[in-house]
Amino acid sequence: MKKYVLPAVMLTVFETVAVTLWLTKDNIFYLFNFSYIGLSVSLGMFLFIRKYKHARRVVQLLVGLYMMVYLGLICNENMQIEGFWYYLFTGVFEAATIHYAVAKIFGPLFFGRGWCGYACWTAMVLDFLPYKVPAQPRRKIGWIRYVTFAASLAFVGALFLAHVGNLERIMFWAFIAGNVLYYGAGIALAFAFKDNRAFCKYICPITVFLKPMSYFSMIRVKCDREKCVSCGKCRRVCPMDVDVTDNSRNRKNGTECILCMECVKNCPKKAL
Ligand code: SF4
Ligand code: SF4
Ligand code: SF4
Repeated sequence: MKKYVLPAVMLTVFETVAVTLWLTKDNIFYLFNFSYIGLSVSLGMFLFIRKYKHARRVVQLLVGLYMMVYLGLICNENMQIEGFWYYLFTGVFEAATIHYAVAKIFGPLFFGRGWCGYACWTAMVLDFLPYKVPAQPRRKIGWIRYVTFAASLAFVGALFLAHVGNLERIMFWAFIAGNVLYYGAGIALAFAFKDNRAFCKYICPITVFLKPMSYFSMIRVKCDREKCVSCGKCRRVCPMDVDVTDNSRNRKNGTECILCMECVKNCPKKAL
């Protein structure tokens, strides 16, 4: 039973958030929303422990489709970074601001970049592409993420400064346009660089939050140096080029680990 502790802890964390928000905001949606996400994530962990090969993909589809189709398209909530700025500027602690606080700003202190491995609807599609492990060395163009981050802030800031009307509707269309752009750029880059996760490594503005916060993540993959035989298999299967044999927080590309567990599954010595 010990091996099921982590999914149980994860479910408890999400249920705590669900009940707290439901009671403090007097809105039953939060109970439904965070319970659904918690159950999906815990189910994925449970399937992983049971050695089901597609456990992570199941969670990605359950959470990613829910976020994009139900929250984004049906409920008209812009859950992208523009939506976060929008709700932040209006001073409303709802929807995207809560989503960012939980999944992308404070949550990563606990579960690192679990969002990127198990929930992001952009990566949900990118992970279907053929380049699961990067076929080329990493490029030094990570600065692009700061440009896209600044552009998203400038876009929403300009709408507010210009007192543009009907902002709710504009944010809905910005959500559609943003997704088209992200998918277009992500798929093009994946084929150009032969790397499904190139978009995550170089362009995604959300990593400006995710990288520094996940540096302190409580949940991380660690290496038992006694068992490790330095075969390098973990590096070869990692989609994010993380040097997981180094246990320090400064490990190479450490803030890019998406907790996909490919290294753990493939280590021949069960050292991870
Ligand atoms: S880096 Fe961005 S696009 Fe990639 S999985 Fe994370 S949030 Fe999604
Ligand atoms: S795959 Fe396992 S044994 Fe091989 S280098 Fe990585 S941690 Fe060490
Ligand atoms: S393969 Fe291992 S080190 Fe690489 S992203 Fe997945 S969990 Fe992290």
